[in-house]
Amino acid sequence: MDIARDTLQGWARTLALDLVGVASLDGYRDVEPQWNPLSILPTAKSVVVFGRSIPRSYFRGIEEGTLWMRVDRYLPPRPGYYLCRSLEDNGFLAVPCSPLAPERWPDGLPAEPGKPAPNVTPDIALAAQLAGLGEIGWNGAFLTPQFGPRQALGMLFTEAAIEPDEPFPSGRLCRREACLACARACPAGALSTTPSQRRAGTQTLSVGTFRQEACRLCVNGAWPDTSCDQAPPNRLAAACTRACIACLEDGGIVKTAYKAPFRRREAWSFNTFEG
Ligand code: SF4
Ligand code: SF4
Repeated sequence: MDIARDTLQGWARTLALDLVGVASLDGYRDVEPQWNPLSILPTAKSVVVFGRSIPRSYFRGIEEGTLWMRVDRYLPPRPGYYLCRSLEDNGFLAVPCSPLAPERWPDGLPAEPGKPAPNVTPDIALAAQLAGLGEIGWNGAFLTPQFGPRQALGMLFTEAAIEPDEPFPSGRLCRREACLACARACPAGALSTTPSQRRAGTQTLSVGTFRQEACRLCVNGAWPDTSCDQAPPNRLAAACTRACIACLEDGGIVKTAYKAPFRRREAWSFNTFEG
């Protein structure tokens, strides 16, 4: 291996990151070129995914219905920049990837026949599951054993060979049809109890089907995706994901040191045109 895992973890610690994992490119064999890191860096050997926990307090005002704020799903560029620099200081090319809504792309012409059109945008939640950090839940949020849905993620691709993690097994955190607290918490009926299938490497995941047009107008804590007006909103602080925080913590699936539960009274919610 070109970079030891201890070295990578040390770099992550100095950047105050809580999570770091490595996905093998093997998990991208069936991923179309439009969403595949190998379209950006054909010589990539590793996909590095990293994250930082989001304090529970960021959700508090929205849970109370008294303070509206955006809770970011993605990290700002700085940690990715410094991880890329560390890799390049050791002689290995590294490309940071800023995730934007997949609905925005492609937006242009391929540079030559046979190439995907810009921009190629690998799915960060898929990368994080392949990197062993956690799993994509029924509500589409990325869930980790440490924080449930409460983390912001970043990603880079590198020519350095780094020992990969095993992909995270689906169903260890999200009990899917046996839970569905997220779908029941959506007053707009935008998140269905009916499953759709999606792939994560060799695994097939059941996730809830969304009615995007209902979700886009959510008045229950969602934040519009400003990168594309056709994209679903950032649902991290919306009723569906806050129900998931409560459900995972109350069920003991995500253990925290907080003295009081996240959910302290019945959740508020409005149907889209009541709000
Ligand atoms: S973001 Fe709002 S409308 Fe969409 S699934 Fe969540 S609660 Fe429902
Ligand atoms: S609320 Fe339950 S079913 Fe929904 S994502 Fe969270 S754990 Fe999965």
